[in-house]
Amino acid sequence: MRSGSEEQKQKYLSPVTKGEALSSGGFTEPDHGSDITLMDTTAVKEGDEYVINGVKTFITNGTIGSFAIVLCQTDPEAKPTYRGQSTIIVETGTPGYTTADVGEKMGIKMTSTAELSFNNARVPSSNLVGEENKGFYQVLEFFDESRVEIAAQALGIAQGAFDRALAYTKERSQFGKKLAQFQVTQHKLADMVAQIETARLIVYKSAWNFDQGNIDPKLTSIAKMYAGRVAVEVADEAIQLFGGYGYMLEYEVERFYRDAKIMEIYEGTREIQKNTIASALLGKL
Ligand SMILES: Cc1cc2nc3c(=O)[nH]c(=O)nc-3n(C[C@H](O)[C@H](O)[C@H](O)COP(=O)(O)OP(=O)(O)OC[C@H]3O[C@@H](n4cnc5c(N)ncnc54)[C@H](O)[C@@H]3O)c2cc1C
Repeated sequence: MRSGSEEQKQKYLSPVTKGEALSSGGFTEPDHGSDITLMDTTAVKEGDEYVINGVKTFITNGTIGSFAIVLCQTDPEAKPTYRGQSTIIVETGTPGYTTADVGEKMGIKMTSTAELSFNNARVPSSNLVGEENKGFYQVLEFFDESRVEIAAQALGIAQGAFDRALAYTKERSQFGKKLAQFQVTQHKLADMVAQIETARLIVYKSAWNFDQGNIDPKLTSIAKMYAGRVAVEVADEAIQLFGGYGYMLEYEVERFYRDAKIMEIYEGTREIQKNTIASALLGKL
């Protein structure tokens, strides 16, 4: 959307917006997760093609996407190394490009997660997105938006777990009382809703700020870090309020708990969000 040519947008994004195709973003590699400043996946220009070699892992939609946008090292000599990276579109079906499911996950089981392998995969040089050697910066811009979206996912998970817990405590009785009549339960519900409302404010603020055209990685990272933690803590407390039933698959809240955890891992872990916040506060020391 931000860096591609008009032709690329028509060819690749139109089918996605019509719901006819899925895309994937391939940044992570087996040896480079939080630190993507150097990629082992290389793209070497030969005539009017790029020849791509390497492996990406944990790529959402990898096995079912029509194309992947792949972060490659195009200039291995660049200093710092991230100045030698480019994003390149690789279509499914390209000879030398294969995908495989990475296996069962703890949560978000409705998504597919794949390993992408490139073995002398040749793509036209017109598949370069934007300028050569600007890929790292494009990915950082992508995170400024996608982290807001993950923060919103986390908020929805927290709300969903809370709604179920609230309803359950009004139905379930022990010791001759509804669970919701115990003050300890009421305090738990109050704490949960306070966390959710606080998360909602920061998520909406960061989304609003992005919509105004402002890029603020600190705000975005605060939203993702905070809403992710709230999702995990609220889903945990929701299971606790359900007791043994919460542990059973039938009652859904265990799914919220499993889904919540990835919010603190993908699109930058909790610790990486803290690094971003701190570097915005402190600059280069
Ligand atoms: C289900 C799922 C879907 C995913 N989808 C995609 C996708 O579509 N595309 C994609 O490119 N990637 C995707 N990822 C990858 C995800 O972004 C990475 O797993 C994540 O960035 C962490 O990288 P890593 O797993 O290599 O962990 P590591 O980077 O090895 O980190 C391990 C631990 O060390 C900590 N750590 C690392 N560096 C620092 C530091 N400097 N300071 C403090 N702590 C640090 C981390 O916070 C973490 O706790 C997905 C992952 C999963 C599990």
